[in-house]
Amino acid sequence: MDFETLCIHGNTKKYDTTGAICVPIFTSATFAHPGVGKSTGFDYSRTQNPTREHLENTVATLEGGCGAIAFSTGMAATSALMELFSPGDHIVSIDDLYGGSYRLFEKISAKNGLSFTYANSGISAAIRPETKAIFIETPTNPMMQVIDIAAAAKTARERGLLLIVDNTFLTPYFQKPLKLGADIVLHSGTKYLGGHNDALAGLLVAKDIEVCERLRVIANTTGAILSPFESYLITRGIKTLAVRMERQQETANIVASWLTQQEKITAVYYIGLPKHPGHEITLKQSGGFGGMISFSVCDEEVAVKILEHVKIIQYAESLGGVESLITYPALQTHADMPQNERISRGIDSRLLRLSVGLESAKDLIADLTQAMEA
Ligand SMILES: *Cc1c(COP(=O)(O)O)cnc(C)c1O
Repeated sequence: MDFETLCIHGNTKKYDTTGAICVPIFTSATFAHPGVGKSTGFDYSRTQNPTREHLENTVATLEGGCGAIAFSTGMAATSALMELFSPGDHIVSIDDLYGGSYRLFEKISAKNGLSFTYANSGISAAIRPETKAIFIETPTNPMMQVIDIAAAAKTARERGLLLIVDNTFLTPYFQKPLKLGADIVLHSGTKYLGGHNDALAGLLVAKDIEVCERLRVIANTTGAILSPFESYLITRGIKTLAVRMERQQETANIVASWLTQQEKITAVYYIGLPKHPGHEITLKQSGGFGGMISFSVCDEEVAVKILEHVKIIQYAESLGGVESLITYPALQTHADMPQNERISRGIDSRLLRLSVGLESAKDLIADLTQAMEA
């Protein structure tokens, strides 16, 4: 089946006998046993719930994994993932990372005995004897750098490490890290998978059954799983994932090209622009460029003016939904990063990040124009 079809029919297991077209929201915390030592396959909803299983099977199918586990947020998924590791273990990550992941690693995981290197001069050089995993996201947030997934997978394989890829920005519609050699895919389902800015969720997808089972034990034990209602909302969002990604990309392309021609815009970071340094790798490893654009304006005053005067675009954190959102990474997602480190990475007071939604390109451009000139 094609991807569009799998978004709708990715899980063929039926959970009721009424012929319901949509998976029911099973609000039961627990399930009765048909006999001693017997189970319907569902015992207690922390362990598994039919609505959540439906979502997990769908996402596992879309990413080409053995199984998926749905968590209450992307960060809950990432912190469950950290439970695969033990004190003394080291993880190589990248120097342009989602701010929340950086905060988790530095404020929580470090306290628990894990250490991290944020590689900027190549992943291989940062590997130590105690390294257990490589954790990347691509394109990165917010600087839109592209990491070669197959090359990272080769390094991981040679050195016996797990490769973990945060695939939130491109989703399996445009990029399938497991097919390129990754072991685990991570998602903030809050973003494109849900797609409507109305639910939080996280997902882990594993390539191998052994890793999947270890993650499932962690999820059941630590308990930050996704509720049946949220599982339903993310399932519902995924049904339109393919069409949303297509249109959001198309509009992002138009807006990014327009931004490059504006006098007050000094840099545009969109991987769909042929002169973006990651464009070539993206063509090789991904089926598209997505809907995320970062850009720098000439001075802080213009940045603030845009944020305060946009009307259709909302000045709000998050991304990937039908509503276009603009953020100020220096003050929002990356506020916890030391200032000099942040600025050396290009995340300064002139940088804005735009998540292109489903409004028309014409209206978005008109909105940015009036905000810049306000
Ligand atoms: C939002 C986001 C997360 C965290 O997800 P939440 O659902 O907000 O907890 C992780 N990675 C990336 C790339 C994100 O954009």
